[in-house]
Amino acid sequence: MEAAHGSGLVAALFAGLLAACAAPSASPVVEMPVVPSSPVIAEAPPPIELHVAVERPPVASPEPPGTALACAGPAKQGGAILCQALPGATITLDGKAVAIADSGGAAVIGLTRTQVSPAKIGLLPAATAGTTQSAVSAYTEVEVLPRKDTVSKFEMECRRIAPQSPEDKRHAEVSWVRKDKAMKAFNAPLAPVGFVKPADGPYSSAYGVTRTYVPKTKDCEGSTSVHNGQDIAIPTGTEIRAPMAGTVLLADPDLFYEGGAVFLDLGRGLVSITMHMSRIDVKDGERVAQGQVLGLSGATGRVTGPHLHWAIKYRNVLSDDRGTDIWLDPLLVLGLKPPG
Ligand SMILES: [Zn+2]
Repeated sequence: MEAAHGSGLVAALFAGLLAACAAPSASPVVEMPVVPSSPVIAEAPPPIELHVAVERPPVASPEPPGTALACAGPAKQGGAILCQALPGATITLDGKAVAIADSGGAAVIGLTRTQVSPAKIGLLPAATAGTTQSAVSAYTEVEVLPRKDTVSKFEMECRRIAPQSPEDKRHAEVSWVRKDKAMKAFNAPLAPVGFVKPADGPYSSAYGVTRTYVPKTKDCEGSTSVHNGQDIAIPTGTEIRAPMAGTVLLADPDLFYEGGAVFLDLGRGLVSITMHMSRIDVKDGERVAQGQVLGLSGATGRVTGPHLHWAIKYRNVLSDDRGTDIWLDPLLVLGLKPPG
């Protein structure tokens, strides 16, 4: 379901601009309702010629403003929404700028596990990026279905719950620094959005489950965390493949929690992370194709047995604060569909 809102004039202007881009061969003259000194027109992209028709009422736009932004729905908490807008447009979620449409106009909007419904997805035309929310020219509402996550308990050795020895503490610290540095790099997408499962095997522990780690001995405290990825039950030595084409941000054989892991930047804010691998076949900075083997599964890092932990991180490409990035449900990302 879509609803268009916002300033009628600015919305009408942008709708006209989009219509002009969508049908370049219809007429060499693009008629646009324009108000003199409008900041939108003053900063419009240079390749588009504008012919001012002052006598035409601004409300007479042939396209409704909602056509400037189309998003697929319904979505689910912890999932993502694929939207289509003008290339370079800045997209907002509930008033906060979160994504930029790529050269094909596609943008991915990640949703937290507690996203309220409906998600209000807005549009800032490229020329007004960086301005305030009042510049939003249109928004669309996407229904967000609620999650029903469960709670489970695990018994674990203290050293797997948290680093205990000085060596483990140092290992965890070095791992954190490497991950933190890697996640600051952003690469352009190499392919349209479309995922394949990274390994053949049954799904086991699901994303979103609250896990309480109970120590096997009394040497440490227990802890509680939310499972931030999807597990796939496979024996050591199973091929792990790239779920989508991307650029390797970090390929590390020995991170403290993740073990052997590949952080693959898919563009549009998405990073695929495959963990607990026994062998790594790619290098930092390498570009990989969808389905390319990244390495082999294993039982490295903080695990109780061999499996693949597959996680998807959604980074706000407009923010330097990596602390606000969110984990998405890989199974929902796997099913991402374009609008329409
Ligand atoms: Zn897992």
